[in-house]
Amino acid sequence: MERSTRQRTAIRAAIEAAARPLSPHEILDAVRVTVPEIGIATIYRNLKLLLGEGELQAVTLPGENPRYETSHAAHHHHHHFHCVACDRVFEVEGCPGRMDDLAPAGFVIDRHELTLYGECAECAAKRKGKAAPDAAAPVATSAATPAAKRPARAHKH
Ligand SMILES: [Zn+2]
Ligand SMILES: [Zn+2]
Ligand SMILES: [Zn+2]
Repeated sequence: MERSTRQRTAIRAAIEAAARPLSPHEILDAVRVTVPEIGIATIYRNLKLLLGEGELQAVTLPGENPRYETSHAAHHHHHHFHCVACDRVFEVEGCPGRMDDLAPAGFVIDRHELTLYGECAECAAKRKGKAAPDAAAPVATSAATPAAKRPARAHKH
């Protein structure tokens, strides 16, 4: 009893600390720091309980297995960024706002989901470091990498 409470607390703490949706395996890696004996089956069992209790919400991006975030985060309208290099998903605070103009005439939008794909700052910096070991031509380098100009956060309306 005591042990399962400790496991559940550790899982919830790992997701809160990450401040982004985590996959069960990411949760396992994070929880093992404090609860070394925990296994993936225990993670799944506790995720199910936490979902049932409304503590967590599943984030299911198209074609992806569910990741999990706190209900607190989920209830605040936001979007996600999926890094295709490291396969991590991040929170995006900005929202383009109402998208009525995108829907066909006469259609009424209830809600929308939006996922951005690309490289997170860490992966983009890593790739840049590898791709451009030659710093002799800074002007040509910056002009040749428009992807690096991606803003850190989406702008708000
Ligand atoms: Zn990444
Ligand atoms: Zn989220
Ligand atoms: Zn939105």
